[in-house]
Amino acid sequence: MAIIVGIIIYRSCWLKQSLITRAGWFGTMVFSLGELLVELFRKGDNPFDEPGEFLGPYPSGAPAIFVHALASLGESTGYFATIGKDDFGKCLVDRLVKSGISTDWLVQLDEWTTGVAFTHFRSDGSREFIYHSGNAAVGQLGPEMLDSDALSRCNWLHLCGNVLGISQKTRAASYDAAAIVGANGGRISFDPNIRFELMRREDIWPLCKPVVEAAEIVSASGTEAECLSGVRGEDDACRAILELGPAVVALKRGELGCKVFTKQAEFEVPSYPVTEIDPTGAGDCFDAGFVYGLLRQWDLRECAAFANALGALTVTRQGAMEAKIGLEEVQRLMKEGRTQ
Ligand code: ATP
Ligand code: MG
Repeated sequence: MAIIVGIIIYRSCWLKQSLITRAGWFGTMVFSLGELLVELFRKGDNPFDEPGEFLGPYPSGAPAIFVHALASLGESTGYFATIGKDDFGKCLVDRLVKSGISTDWLVQLDEWTTGVAFTHFRSDGSREFIYHSGNAAVGQLGPEMLDSDALSRCNWLHLCGNVLGISQKTRAASYDAAAIVGANGGRISFDPNIRFELMRREDIWPLCKPVVEAAEIVSASGTEAECLSGVRGEDDACRAILELGPAVVALKRGELGCKVFTKQAEFEVPSYPVTEIDPTGAGDCFDAGFVYGLLRQWDLRECAAFANALGALTVTRQGAMEAKIGLEEVQRLMKEGRTQ
């Protein structure tokens, strides 16, 4: 009977609704939203106020990288995002299509240009960004562009703090999405992905609070955990975040791996030795790996090891969305302990 009713719904709804309906029956559906942009990397060590070369465009944006990583593992994904009517937008659509990410919720805005992030990895290890985002298509994703029917049926929603900082519209869209998913029993993850170019330090907690309180897991670097909680020391900062509602806090520690905090336990899980080519997106892929495990009800240690392996493999490639890292590759690294 359910199948017959389902077929009627499938035939009578928009395509996007039929896709989510089917996913709801036969598998999981993970959504994210916002910050679909191209990234241009500064070559060499020239600062941005001097002429120099850029490498790119590379499809990017924290939630896009997260969704791409999960789609590469075979998960069904949905993504609410806005692009402009230009070749950077085309570059992004091509990437999503090649990656198997549904473009049903992608909106092209003819009057806005596609968002751009200019990124500079300085030789001392620090990073600098210039964003063309709030006043670009990427800043126009408002709550009215969400599909509440699809969101109410999804299993998981991943939100990012940098999206909260892009514009009032993207913030409102993030809050609304969290409210819809939360009210319908879906699960939520949050990565603060703090970018001081997008958010003032004093705004971090007020803006992130509604999402942190709704999230089952928060994954953050040590500095991000401290900024979010206002507590000094990364371990104490993670413990303070746990008090705010999430069941799990995953502290991302680069090549060292991660540390997992729950009310019952705290443990470190080492990462895997790899040759780092480009660190972009390691954190977002780590998030995707952790969510992949949580969706399968894996033990938290297993989730953390899988997340580490996915994060480690990500840094071995230039561009966070250039390569598809599949399940076999992650499992091979976990089994053999090193890349070939
Ligand atoms: P970003 O915001 O730039 O994506 P992040 O600070 O959120 O980064 P990182 O700690 O840099 O996240 O990386 C996330 C995870 O990826 C780490 O916890 C680790 O598991 C893995 N990882 C990152 N860099 C390396 C590395 N060089 N070697 C091994 N594993 C790594
Ligand atoms: Mg990060």
